[in-house]
Amino acid sequence: DLPVVVIAGRPNVGKSTLFNRLVGRRQALVADTPGVTRDRKEGVALVRGRHVRLIDTAGLEEAAPDSLYGRMRASSESAVHEADLVLFCIDARAGITPADEHFAQWIRRQNRPVLLLANKAEGRQGTASALEAYALGLGEPVALSAEHGEGLTDLMWEIAERL
Ligand code: GDP
Ligand code: MG
Repeated sequence: DLPVVVIAGRPNVGKSTLFNRLVGRRQALVADTPGVTRDRKEGVALVRGRHVRLIDTAGLEEAAPDSLYGRMRASSESAVHEADLVLFCIDARAGITPADEHFAQWIRRQNRPVLLLANKAEGRQGTASALEAYALGLGEPVALSAEHGEGLTDLMWEIAERL
């Protein structure tokens, strides 16, 4: 079985952009799983010569503000529980939001290996938020830009090191 890597985080931090960047056309190799494709997308990514099963979670997108915690937990739970590694993404431009803090707290309680990603960190923008992200208690963040393809080599090293 391939190692399972799950991309998690609140809406709009760039999870799907990162998924598409890492999976590319290999997404076509993976069959849809009935009943779960609505909530998550899967593909095979190549990480330093090794294939991994990458899962893009999307459960947070449907959450109402007053039930954020409950909804994100329900929709992302199964993916996170089968993860060999969780890529927890934040938006380095927006900084840490209450939703990031709630989700990070939940993720920490699942006892899965987590790698913290500070996305949208192209140019100089990301540095301050990357430092701020350390306070989430998920270790040292990897700064990257999924959209611009920056920081991906570092990301691959950090993922490979944890699998
Ligand atoms: P998701 O909701 O977490 O899956 O986020 P998406 O992948 O849909 O991206 C949300 C928005 O952020 C889109 O408008 C993306 O183009 C943008 N985005 C994603 N990655 C980056 C990045 O590295 N830098 C910048 N500036 N924008 C990004
Ligand atoms: Mg998405």
